Amino acid sequence: MENNKRKVDGSFANEENQRKQTKIDDYWLAKPMVPTYNPFAPLTIVEEIQDKDKEQEKEKEKEKTDPKPPPIFVHNVQEITPLTALLETEAKDAYTYKTLRNFTVKIQAQNSDSFRRIHKALKDKKTEMHSYQLKSDKGFRVVLKGLHHSTCGEDIKNALQVLGHHVIRINNKRCRQTKKPLPLFDIELAVSSSNHQIYSVNRLLNCVVEIEPPRPNKEIIQCTRCQRFGHSKAYCLRETRCVKCLESHWTSECPRKNKDQNVRCVNCNGYHPANYRGCEAHLRAKAQRRSDLRGRVREAIREGRESRAQNFNVGKSVNNSASAIRGGVTYANVTSGEIGTIPSDTHVNVNLSQNRQNPADSNSDMSELRSMMRTLTEQMTSMLSIMNTLVNLMGQKNQK
Ligand SMILES: [Zn+2]
Ligand SMILES: [Zn+2]
Ligand SMILES: [Zn+2]
Repeated sequence: MENNKRKVDGSFANEENQRKQTKIDDYWLAKPMVPTYNPFAPLTIVEEIQDKDKEQEKEKEKEKTDPKPPPIFVHNVQEITPLTALLETEAKDAYTYKTLRNFTVKIQAQNSDSFRRIHKALKDKKTEMHSYQLKSDKGFRVVLKGLHHSTCGEDIKNALQVLGHHVIRINNKRCRQTKKPLPLFDIELAVSSSNHQIYSVNRLLNCVVEIEPPRPNKEIIQCTRCQRFGHSKAYCLRETRCVKCLESHWTSECPRKNKDQNVRCVNCNGYHPANYRGCEAHLRAKAQRRSDLRGRVREAIREGRESRAQNFNVGKSVNNSASAIRGGVTYANVTSGEIGTIPSDTHVNVNLSQNRQNPADSNSDMSELRSMMRTLTEQMTSMLSIMNTLVNLMGQKNQK
């Protein structure tokens, strides 16, 4: 580690600069006191992939063996040079990064190995950042319905083991409002090719049961470390922020022990705890997530149409998305309900177009995407029928 550190330090700044930096703020990505670089430089650093098509092809191939690691968001980056130096040391060229607003840098490692190296190096430097769980570290999640809540977890584990399913984690679910235990268990299995066979289990310990994929999580998750939305505390290393006041500490360390009028929300400055569902910041995050999902649905539908169009026109190049849509879906398709067949191939594409890593379980995401696609399809159908009515009305008018 020492060795790495020296390498990083030596490559980005002269000693003079270093000394000044440590005087004002010893955080490694803080701004040096006397800038010795071009002040406009940060504006020009937006790294982009050069040969997108080729890259994507390669990525799709790789994704089968090593799924794309989640992005790492580094916050409060005042100086990019130490960061890029560290990236080069840890993952030479096996990453890309994007400069976002609010001094945030989004790092995308190319494989799980470089992800682990970068993540560890940043963590060692106590970097303000957040990320998500590696897909390969994620188990296969299901919901077991029907067993009495008091059934011993070990017994369930053993019963499933006999059937060839290795349980990593099992949790009894409680009602969100009443906190009463439910006859539902969240189960995480070790990933294996036989995972899907668990859905056919309908008896366990002689009890009638059902096993289903987890439901889509409608609530947006909130980090209990930094109170921000969209990620969990397990992969967050941002500055701690209290749920009850505007100070920087863990909620458990808050001096406010009982309910009083001084509760403040760190996300909106309002007079409520930061996990209040009616908080404007929460509502905004929720709306943003919905529009992100909608964008992904649209993208998936477009890709689905393109792939269908390509299947129809083998040998012809279909680059124009407009022609792809015409080739993919006809008015007759839509009115006859044939559009219902589209999702079968769009589902695959949804998966591939999941560039943005969501903390929510991907299974839940998929079901949500599916239901959104259904809604979109319905909306399209009703729009077409309105257009149809309009055309009829215009026809009648012309006859008069
Ligand atoms: Zn956080
Ligand atoms: Zn507090
Ligand atoms: Zn608030």
